Amino acid sequence: MKNTEICTVGGYNEVGRNMTAINVDGETVICDMGFNVQKVVEYQDESPTQEAYSRHLLQEIDAIPNINKIKSWIPNTKAIAITHCHLDHIGGVQYLAPEFKAPVVATPYTINVIQRQMGDNSVKIPNKMIKVRPDSIYNASKNIKIEYLSIPHSTPETSLLAIHTKKGIYIYATDWKFDNTPVIGKKPDYKRLKELGSIGVKCLIIDSLYSGKNIKSPSEKIARDLLQDVLLGTENSGSAIITTCFASHIARLKSIIEFGKRLNRRVVVLGRSFGRYIEAAESAHITKISDKIKMATYRTDIKRLISEVQQKGPEKYLIVCTGGQGEPNSVLSKMIKGEFKFKFYPEDHVIFSNLLIPVEPNLTNRNVMEAHLKDAGVRIFNNVHVTGHCAKEDIREMIKLTNPENIIPCHGFDRLLKPSCELAEEMGYKPNRDVHLMKNGEKIIID
Ligand SMILES: [Zn+2]
Ligand SMILES: [Zn+2]
Repeated sequence: MKNTEICTVGGYNEVGRNMTAINVDGETVICDMGFNVQKVVEYQDESPTQEAYSRHLLQEIDAIPNINKIKSWIPNTKAIAITHCHLDHIGGVQYLAPEFKAPVVATPYTINVIQRQMGDNSVKIPNKMIKVRPDSIYNASKNIKIEYLSIPHSTPETSLLAIHTKKGIYIYATDWKFDNTPVIGKKPDYKRLKELGSIGVKCLIIDSLYSGKNIKSPSEKIARDLLQDVLLGTENSGSAIITTCFASHIARLKSIIEFGKRLNRRVVVLGRSFGRYIEAAESAHITKISDKIKMATYRTDIKRLISEVQQKGPEKYLIVCTGGQGEPNSVLSKMIKGEFKFKFYPEDHVIFSNLLIPVEPNLTNRNVMEAHLKDAGVRIFNNVHVTGHCAKEDIREMIKLTNPENIIPCHGFDRLLKPSCELAEEMGYKPNRDVHLMKNGEKIIID
């Protein structure tokens, strides 16, 4: 009898370049194919370059997953199943998917983003791109069905993958939280998760990024309330208001636009990445945004729109732009440095509605940015944000519902993954027998 083997390809030694391969009776499903942006940033710091990155270089600097350990699985791979559109889950597709003769399968919004991103980089790949409706099943082969189960995260149409096989169900549950009041999309389907648990889950691969936090992750509704408090509950008439947010966070953007309307301000969205995600969301019929805002995505258009705002009076507008990590190339940085002509006045508001990812160069860049803003007397509102990832008490809930035989924590290096192992132990799982702390490129047989 053949066994099931799982290879934790990437995202187990770092936060980024997520990829896991599940081989059942010789047929393989790949879950996610991500990118580690941080590695490119570090590389650029050491050897600044404008050249496009080759697959070879990205492999060398560990920016994309290393597929050497699953070479023999490549010919019989049935699907590259993607959970959602974040770069740490899709960024490797354009480089690695062509190695596999398998389709890339994801929800419509996710596929739209992948296609737009490749289009921006002028990349074409031979793989079929298959859109599956949220909460539907893709038949990867006669023996393998992949169920895309909707789950709240910080971008639309995120899925948990329940891989149904003759050996049982394997659940790949990364990037999610049990949010019962999401601003966009459905609540978690607890009933279905419980059903999967009673059918029999062989292994649960679970997001453990915040497993060390002894909380249940707060809902996106809380972020909405935080935003409401800052936007509608402070004295800002006569001031400019500038808000950052992750461009892929359509729910957050929706909240900002609604409060902009309540403030009687025209919402102006600036930056190329916003254009990409808004288009992807609209063509997947998730929500309509472009008719409620004024948007500029290219440099000259951004420049023109900012001077229009400046001329007509910034107090009539709410500006949404990139720059939450302090990126020197972001719209907010360019407004501060004067590359885009915008004058900051005392009492203007800058709201950071995103997580500052606490690594260099972000920390330094953001400090520099905030110092400039403070010099101009601008009021800064930090961390008007909640995460899209589960914490310890969501993880406990997921383990109870799905009742897996084995658990593999994912989405981080060992210090981040360990609290999940400890939690599983507390729940009766035994280390190395049924809860497994894995590293990149390791394989484990689940029988
Ligand atoms: Zn992720
Ligand atoms: Zn994500």
